[in-house]
Amino acid sequence: SMMLRIEDMGVTYPRNVLALRPTTVDFHRGEFTVLLGLSGAGKSTLLRSLNHLVLPTAGSVISAEFGPLNSRRTVRQHRSRTAMVFQHHQLIERHTALQNVLTGRLAYHNTLRSLLPFPRQDLELALHCLERVGLADKALTRVDQLSGGQQQRVGIARALAQQPSMILADEPVASLDPATSEKVLGLLRDICREDGITTVISLHQLEYAQRFADRIIGLANAQIVFDAAPEELQPHH
Ligand code: ADP
Ligand code: ADP
Repeated sequence: SMMLRIEDMGVTYPRNVLALRPTTVDFHRGEFTVLLGLSGAGKSTLLRSLNHLVLPTAGSVISAEFGPLNSRRTVRQHRSRTAMVFQHHQLIERHTALQNVLTGRLAYHNTLRSLLPFPRQDLELALHCLERVGLADKALTRVDQLSGGQQQRVGIARALAQQPSMILADEPVASLDPATSEKVLGLLRDICREDGITTVISLHQLEYAQRFADRIIGLANAQIVFDAAPEELQPHH
């Protein structure tokens, strides 16, 4: 079923930089979608517009749950259910894996709440999320002591702790070696499958997209050039 729709949505940056031509796309519940394209194609712009980190300059984003993102309230509601994973994971390096997962969760609590000690249930949830990504034994390790792949998995645990209905991951494996990239993509795909979390990630490698995606949306020069299941695309070697 439809989870999020972009309708005639386009983005033009200041100085008239056209980053995304107005386009209409439905994202479906539990689907693992890869936005595929070269650098500058518009992947990050499309991805970030899905939770209004980039503000569309045309058209709209419509959440099945909250309606059109046309007020601060609906944007806030939608963001509270939409977790982000970044290329450079944006963890606090001097903090432990557990602290990072908890802090991500705190961002969605109010200020007063953040002054109180962590309730046991938050700690248990954070530990459970670290377990999901295979890092239960690193909970108390500072993230600057972890490998790049492990840091990205902490970023995924932090996203999971938000108990999202949607995960947006912007080039989540761009800084990782191939073996680690495959592990991280497999993990994101498994979480999507097991929890039914609608997942949209941007990538520039066709092989990974074909291997992990349910759906590939290809972007070039600020527009969608294909939208298909991976088996409908012929690999070119
Ligand atoms: P991709 O993620 O595929 O590399 P982007 O969405 O980052 O593509 O960029 C699409 C186009 O928009 C590029 O031409 C890029 O230079 C431009 N762009 C991206 N962000 C900004 C910005 N904040 N201001 C102006 N132009 C931008
Ligand atoms: P992953 O596949 O999760 O990225 P790696 O295979 O890269 O893990 O790392 C294997 C082990 O080496 C891990 O237990 C990790 O603690 C350690 N390690 C890797 N890189 C670093 C690093 N830069 N600093 C500290 N430890 C590291």
